[in-house]
Amino acid sequence: MAEKRDYYEVLGVGKNASDSELKSAYRKLAKKYHPDTNPGDKEAEAKFKEASEAYAVLSDADKRRQYDQFGHSAFEGGAGGAGGFDFSGMDMGDIFGDIFGDFFGGGRSSRSRSNGPMKGQNVRVSVRINFKEACFGVEKEIDIVLKEECRSCHGSGAKAGTSPQTCSKCGGKGQVVFTQQSLFGVVRNVQSCPDCHGTGKIIKDRCPDCNGSGYVSKRKNIAVTIPAGIDNGQCVRIRDKGEPGVNGGERGDLLVEVLVGNDPIFKRQDRDIYSTVPITFTQAALGGDIHVKTIDGEVIYTVKPGTQTDTRVRLRGKGVPSLRNKSIRGDHYVTLVVQVPTKMTNEQKELLREFDRAMYGAPEESKETEGAQGEAQDSKAKKKGFKRKK
Ligand SMILES: [Zn+2]
Ligand SMILES: [Zn+2]
Repeated sequence: MAEKRDYYEVLGVGKNASDSELKSAYRKLAKKYHPDTNPGDKEAEAKFKEASEAYAVLSDADKRRQYDQFGHSAFEGGAGGAGGFDFSGMDMGDIFGDIFGDFFGGGRSSRSRSNGPMKGQNVRVSVRINFKEACFGVEKEIDIVLKEECRSCHGSGAKAGTSPQTCSKCGGKGQVVFTQQSLFGVVRNVQSCPDCHGTGKIIKDRCPDCNGSGYVSKRKNIAVTIPAGIDNGQCVRIRDKGEPGVNGGERGDLLVEVLVGNDPIFKRQDRDIYSTVPITFTQAALGGDIHVKTIDGEVIYTVKPGTQTDTRVRLRGKGVPSLRNKSIRGDHYVTLVVQVPTKMTNEQKELLREFDRAMYGAPEESKETEGAQGEAQDSKAKKKGFKRKK
């Protein structure tokens, strides 16, 4: 570009122009040189751009200060000046919306993203782990296909020795503005540029290695650290392993959804674990030590004498660790289920009957359905010295 004109001179205002003076000066110029009112007029287009650039800088208090101090060099060459403002990366949509919104009367019409830096899309994958891995955390490796910058063209998409051209339709902005006559006046619309599909660049000779996309797909093995306490359906976020950003934007993230398999013994609700343990009638009646499986291994629990079936007991701190703090753990609730024997020998049955008589006595009606053995039982009981309850 030839020597740049002074921004104040471009807009025809003084150094101390107020914001509203700048705005009205730019409005006049923009209206006069707008590409829609001067189709095909290159000179008008250049003037429009020049005025837009001047206004973009001077209407921003910070940039105006830099410009006043350093002149054009404030925004050149990135490292030079204060802050390295790059005009090409600027979102002109904001400025147009600001200015044209009121004088065309359309307000801010649907404004699509311009070609500024955009973060890449997130990529979702899922990984299966088992119950204990969820409780204590695990390292998993996952295979994914990631887009990487093409080495041949360094992401430009253009064949070696060539470079992408600035799109002439949108002037590299990636979007086009068109105006429409409506009932309420002229409405301004912004659309993604149809020629360059919003990239602002046209590639004439495509890079053969990436077919002009600038990226190649590569299979990658990525290690995922799944933290202790994760629950089914929760995600682990790995930064910068998603889709590449657009126009220098950062990469998206990889979201690893964790699917936890069911466990045959343990059920989980938040940080608490539930399981069921069978105990014998005798253990329930007399009490005693039983072995209970927990995620830490077997522990011994002392059943209280006279425990009823479906009694729920709590093993404190034997639940799932908190995702935020491993040392905080939920509890493990054990439901004790008294087992009623189903297969017994005659001798065992007789012992139970004896027990029953000893416990509750043997009223006249307590005859077995199978046969009338009441008398025999009675005499037997007497022989063995059981005493009826009075
Ligand atoms: Zn390439
Ligand atoms: Zn374009």
